[in-house]
This record gives sequence, structure tokens and C-alpha cells, in this order.
Amino acid sequence: MTNLETAFTIDASSIKHGPGVTREVGYEMRRLGAHRVMVVTDPRLSDSEPVRVALKSLRDESIDAVLFDEVSVEPTDVSLKEAIRFATEGAFDGYVAVGGGSSMDTAKAANLYATYPAELLAYVNAPIGEGRLVPGPLKPLIAVPTTIGTGSETTGTAVFDYLAMRAKTGISHRALRPVMGLVDPDNTRGIPRMVAACSGLDVLCHGLESYTALPFHRRLAPDSPATRPSYQGSNPISDVWATRSVEMVAQYITRAVQDPDDDEARGQMLLAATFAGVGFGNAGCHLPHGMSYPVSGMVRDYVVDGYPADHPLVPHGMSVVLNAPAVFRFTAPTNPERHLHAARLMGADLSGSGPEDAGDILADTIIKLIREIDIPNGLSAVGYTDADVNDLVNGALPQERVMKLSPRPVGEAELRQLYLDSMTLW
Ligand SMILES: [Zn+2]
Repeated sequence: MTNLETAFTIDASSIKHGPGVTREVGYEMRRLGAHRVMVVTDPRLSDSEPVRVALKSLRDESIDAVLFDEVSVEPTDVSLKEAIRFATEGAFDGYVAVGGGSSMDTAKAANLYATYPAELLAYVNAPIGEGRLVPGPLKPLIAVPTTIGTGSETTGTAVFDYLAMRAKTGISHRALRPVMGLVDPDNTRGIPRMVAACSGLDVLCHGLESYTALPFHRRLAPDSPATRPSYQGSNPISDVWATRSVEMVAQYITRAVQDPDDDEARGQMLLAATFAGVGFGNAGCHLPHGMSYPVSGMVRDYVVDGYPADHPLVPHGMSVVLNAPAVFRFTAPTNPERHLHAARLMGADLSGSGPEDAGDILADTIIKLIREIDIPNGLSAVGYTDADVNDLVNGALPQERVMKLSPRPVGEAELRQLYLDSMTLW
């Protein structure tokens, strides 16, 4: 008899939310006992208000705060190694990340490898890495997000591009989770339109995927409590956070994209990102995320307004949401009620519809939203053709950690079809 999982856990960072809370980072770091802190950010933010405020707050508490501003916008194994070297030489007893997912994820990796030195692939998720367990607690990390979106301040995951394989992979362990997220709407003022759109859609998918992921009790039980994954599948507590985040994104994303000065909309989107982070940080994402990694990783010449112009990229949230309509049509038969409920939370009119319509209704609701905020029409609009499908499939297959949370099993043939169906959405 196969032994199925019977337990689930909910882990979350402490969250402090509100305009101006960045000023409290010094107080919090002092409370956590740190004396020498690495402040991790990217070059575009090094002279920004959030970084200035964070450094001043730390120094006002007599904490030795050292700025590392070389985070790469989509981190790679090479950029992580640079941060790890800096962290190792700096002998820090605390970390502060100020920025988007890239800065937070880089800080998590720097903290891990400076605390428990190892080859980079040691802690990286199998099969790309060895998937070694983190040996113990890390130094305290406080995350100060400056984008609406990743929810990385609440999760134990760090994602990066492994250049040798041109694949996105990551490190995932609850020890990586920041002890606290300082979620400050002031830090997202004036964010470019497409950045708000893509990061908001990432939040939407975090919520939708957590809610529709394989239920935790259909996963195999772990050999020991130590190996229970942080991505456990949908469960009653993550459902609460995930569904609420879907509702909030649907309500506020268009306003946040169209008016960068709409403080209420941005504040609510930021809160939605945190909610979704608690959801997916414990449930996990599935196919839209798993399929997105090669879409971002294999980009040729696509560039987007509002992102650094020096290298082509398909922003994370965009590469995720372009796969979402095809995926939810495919997964809806596993649980039509959940797919319908998700569409309802996004404002769809369900009158006269039955379980057999669930996939189409959710897919169409997502498409309607992404058209409203000028997301390109499918993978073909960001530079892919049917001739790329083999490579895309081969890039998605190793994303085992998320692929196995699909509520409906996928192999090569299914993935191939899902990519083909994602080429053009309307
Ligand atoms: Zn994401």
C-alpha cells in the first residue's frame, strides 16, 4: 500500500505592513541581535530612497551596515556566487534585502552559503542540484520588497538561472525564509506600468496555482518530518490565503497598472502579494510556473518597457501567465469546483455554467484581464515558434518540484500540447 501524506504545515514570516515601515529595519535588526549586516540590492536601487532609509535606520541603531548593490535582475549562478563571496568575506550576522525577488533571493542564497559553505549545486533542488537539506538555522534576514509581487519576503525559496543548462532552478527550504518582511507601500511608488502588470500577474498565478495544486493528502508521505517539502500541495490554510489574494488582485491590478500614483491600489496589491506568498510558500505552484522557467530562460531578443534595456528578458510574471489559460483548461477536470470558484473570485459571471465549462471560464477570465493591461498575445508574441516547443519541454521537465504538484499528471506529450496551446491566446 502506498503511504500518503496526512499532515501539512504552515510557516510564514512575520510581516509588518504600512507606509514608512522601512524606517523600522534598524530597530528590528537590533532586536534580532545583529551587529554587522549585509544590505543586498541591485545597482538601479543603490541610490534609491528605500536603500537610503534602510541604511540610515540600521546605522542609527549603531549597526555596521555594508551595502552590496550588485544583484543581477534575474540572478544567475554566477551572480549568486559573487554575493556569496561578499557575504563569506564580510562575516555578517544579519542580512537585509531591499528590492524585488532578485534581491531577496540573492540574500537568501548569500546567507545560506556563508553560514554553511558548500558547492553551489549542493543545496539546489534535484535533479539539477543535489537537493541537500539545509543543516540548521541561518542568520536573520529581513526582506524589504520594493516591487509589487514576488511574495519572496514570505517564502523559503530562492530562484536563479543556471547558465550551463539555460534553466531556472532554485533552492527551497524553510530555513531560507526571511524572519520578517517589511512591506512598505511607499517603496513601490512610481513603479513602471509593465513592472506593475507583470508582477501583479505573478501574484495572481501564485494564488491560482496554490489553490488548484495537488491536495497535500495525495502526495506521498515523507520518510521523516525533516524531508517534508515546504511546497506541500493545496491545504485548508493555504487555500484561505490563496483565494483572498486572487480576489484582491482582480480588484486592484488594473488601477495599479494604469495609475502609478494610486496609493490604495498599490497598497492592496502589495498586501495581495504577501497573502499569495503565504499561500504558495506552503502549498507550492504548479504548471504555469514550471513551464515559465524555460520561457524566461531561452529568451532571444524580447525587451519590455520599464525593465533594464541592456538584456532581453521575458519578465517572470509574464512568462507565467502566458501559460496559465492552457494549463487551467487542462487541469479543470481534476476539480471543476475550484476552477469555477477561482473564476468567480476574479469576477466572472457563472450563471448557466456547469462543471464542464470550468476550464474555459477560468481561462477566458484570465485572458480578459491580461488583455486589459496590455500583456502580449501568447508565447508567439514574445518570440517563440512551434519549432521551440521541444526545447521548452526539455527545459520544463526538470522543474520537478513544481511539476509534480500539478493536479493532473503531465509527461512530455502533455507539456508539448500545453506549449502549443499557449502560442496564441486570442
Ligand atoms: Zn512567481
